[in-house]
Amino acid sequence: MLETPHVALGIAIAVKSGNPWVAIPLSLASHFLLDKVPHWNPHFYSETQKFGQPKKISTYIAIADEVIAIALTLFLAYKFMPDVNKSFLILVCSTLSVLPDQIKIPYFFYNIRFGLIKKWVDFERKIQIEIKPFWGIVTQICVVVASLFWIFN
Ligand SMILES: [Zn+2]
Repeated sequence: MLETPHVALGIAIAVKSGNPWVAIPLSLASHFLLDKVPHWNPHFYSETQKFGQPKKISTYIAIADEVIAIALTLFLAYKFMPDVNKSFLILVCSTLSVLPDQIKIPYFFYNIRFGLIKKWVDFERKIQIEIKPFWGIVTQICVVVASLFWIFN
């Protein structure tokens, strides 16, 4: 799944639980739950197998997605100020919600393709449920909208 829906749900967990002991493990666990929601992703893995690195278009999509995810995180963390505890929890949960994907960056972009990181990439690939782009984007928009609705209601 893209990073924006992951952080949207991670932040919703932070806002709604407000309790770090609950929110921190739950936001990390939510990553694996969302990877099980049928979705579309750029094909980093198969492109890396074929061309030695991800395609330019896939990289651009990933960068745009990261920028939106970071902007959403900073915006919502700012919105809950001056509740510093909540804002900090938002930053932590947002980071944890995408950590399982972020640790794959050296594999795809810095050619580190062995050992634990390779095992992790293989594992993460196996748990994804991939569908065609159109519906695979629709499901992710639904996750973002539902999470934002949850945050503000
Ligand atoms: Zn993932």
